[in-house]
Amino acid sequence: MCYAIPGKVIGINNNIALIEYFGEKKEALTDVEGLRVGDYVFAQGGVIVERLQEGDALNILDSWRETFFRLKERDRRLAEEAPLSGDADPKISGILKKGEEGIALTRDEMLTLFRCREKGELSLLYQAANRIRQKVHKNSSCVHGIIEFSNICRNDCDYCGIRRDNHHLERYRMEIDEIVDAVTSSVRELGFKALVLQSGEDGYYTTDRLIEIIHKIRERCGVLLILSIGEREMKCYEELYNAGARGVLMRFETSNPDLYGRLHTTLSYNNRIQTLKGLKETGYIIATGALIGLPGQIEEDVIEDILLARSFDAEMYSFGPLVAHPDTPLATTPPVDIDTVLKVIAITRLMHHDGNLLVTSAVESLFGKKGVRQALMAGGNSMMINLTPARYRKLYSIYPGKGGGGEDIQTRISDTVSLLRSLGRAPTDIGIKEKKGP
Ligand code: SF4
Repeated sequence: MCYAIPGKVIGINNNIALIEYFGEKKEALTDVEGLRVGDYVFAQGGVIVERLQEGDALNILDSWRETFFRLKERDRRLAEEAPLSGDADPKISGILKKGEEGIALTRDEMLTLFRCREKGELSLLYQAANRIRQKVHKNSSCVHGIIEFSNICRNDCDYCGIRRDNHHLERYRMEIDEIVDAVTSSVRELGFKALVLQSGEDGYYTTDRLIEIIHKIRERCGVLLILSIGEREMKCYEELYNAGARGVLMRFETSNPDLYGRLHTTLSYNNRIQTLKGLKETGYIIATGALIGLPGQIEEDVIEDILLARSFDAEMYSFGPLVAHPDTPLATTPPVDIDTVLKVIAITRLMHHDGNLLVTSAVESLFGKKGVRQALMAGGNSMMINLTPARYRKLYSIYPGKGGGGEDIQTRISDTVSLLRSLGRAPTDIGIKEKKGP
């Protein structure tokens, strides 16, 4: 099963290739040696990860062609559905029009949208975000895999179930070859083209060990590797980039330094922000975002969260609701409602038309499949499937319900693909877009 379709290289300019997918053109970094015009490739997250034999590529494209155009038409129809008629405040309509035209919204305008409560206005907001998503990304949606290879962490974040001081949790660490095998089978047998390797901040995985893992993976398969391993020295991240890692998923969780300080006794706000900046400068694709619903978080904080994430020119945004874990200091924090989450996704889409907006697994944990569907219809275009080996999955308990329940991997993959198809989405590559809009 493929989670990306092959594209044909139709132009190369320095290290950027122009790739065509059924008539649509996207750009990607040429991370494969000796690439030529006319080659067929898989690209993920704007990086070419694998070159294919022409015959294999044409076979895959043939099997996709009809489905691709049928899905695209369904997506277009859903996105163009007439907005609910009603008496939308002209101020709201004006802000949405501005956002759809690609003009950056002011803080006050973002706040006005975030304060919408009325059903008709919320529908207008979500539909505007979905129209932008459809116009910019067409029906492409990326489906990355995630492998959680250690639940040991030296930190003690107040919201996290695998925090150091949670002594109720059985801990695990995957061996190097176990990690490499899990990645290889996810790529070769399940067809994933982009994988997140995630862990707590676990010092066992030294720079040398991480390099060994990346080298072994790169020897065996072509895949976009995104690291989510917490804060490290920038020198370490530079060496991991040179070894072949290309993305980092690191959320800052809140843009409010005081709130950050209250939640993180072992981490520094400034260090996190500097690390993110350094990662961007190193060349990494950045995926970042924040928690929605932290105790003490006010509406203005959420708007600043979106603006801070935007300032990193992130390739992917990850905004998810807090799901209170019973073995953490935030155990009794009440959950936010679905509209609060949808509004954050939709406003982020208005502020960054060509970013990828992840629908986090926390959305599914709190609001079920219906919530995931709603998020995909409010500007979301990206999902992750948990591929952690079954014996470890439940132990990576950063919040209750994390890990996709008891379903096996194949069931989760087919559920995800069915959901995407029901919305007319195709799991194609996303690619680097021209920098336009806000
Ligand atoms: S959020 Fe990350 S750094 Fe904090 S305790 Fe959990 S795994 Fe560790």
